[in-house]
Amino acid sequence: MGVDTWKLHNIGQELNFMTVFRDNLLFAFGLKKSFKIGKNKLDVLKDVEISIKNSELVALMGPSGSGKSTLLNIIGGLLKADDGYVELNNHRYGINNPMYLNDLRRNSIGWIFQNSNLLEHLNIQDNVAFALTLSGFSFKEAQEKALLALDRVGLSDRLGFYPGQLSGGQNQRVAIARAISGNRTLLLADEPTGNLDTGTGEEIIKLFQELCHVPSNSFSVLMVTHDPILASKADRILLLKDGRVVES
Ligand code: ADP
Ligand code: MG
Repeated sequence: MGVDTWKLHNIGQELNFMTVFRDNLLFAFGLKKSFKIGKNKLDVLKDVEISIKNSELVALMGPSGSGKSTLLNIIGGLLKADDGYVELNNHRYGINNPMYLNDLRRNSIGWIFQNSNLLEHLNIQDNVAFALTLSGFSFKEAQEKALLALDRVGLSDRLGFYPGQLSGGQNQRVAIARAISGNRTLLLADEPTGNLDTGTGEEIIKLFQELCHVPSNSFSVLMVTHDPILASKADRILLLKDGRVVES
């Protein structure tokens, strides 16, 4: 290879490398996490590597106790890893808590749990708006953004309803609206359909698909599920097993 060809080859390699990074919203490498229980040490994550592309819906499966929630908590910046790092929107964290992690947690990451965890005494628009005011939006901005988010999950005709007046599936849609509102790009969903019947669970996955695949304003979702049928609707299925993540 002559010098010029070599240069071009190197530039090509670099561009490939950059493309990988640009396509990936999230990348985590070498994650390790152990818990001490009395004198025993439980190695939950032994060497986890995971990447999620922009606009990708990824299902994470694995036996109970395999560390799925632990991994989500580390990715969400709520729990420190013992080793390794997470890179989200080109910001790196993992074993320490850099200053920008608060902003990243608040503005880039939305959470959805098995229970929708809505405030019973606020109507659904106020539920979503309240979370936004905690992120620093003004009352007016929060109300507007809540409206947009509830529209995206198909609930714009229920704004004044209270959680008790809606079904479990509708409440989970409100939780999703709360998670996507603002400018968040990554949704972490820990068994979001665990409390729903199969049909309603499928509707929630369909909603995730829509949110991920809208070209102009899309999200990436990392979703823990025990249901192989729901998982099969994702773009990719990952399996957490023996402390490592493998493609299934
Ligand atoms: P999963 O979500 O896959 O069911 P978890 O991530 O919740 O699994 O837990 C993985 C393992 O780590 C379990 O054995 C659990 O008991 C243990 N674990 C999780 N959090 C802690 C903690 N804070 N202290 C001690 N052990 C923990
Ligand atoms: Mg769990």
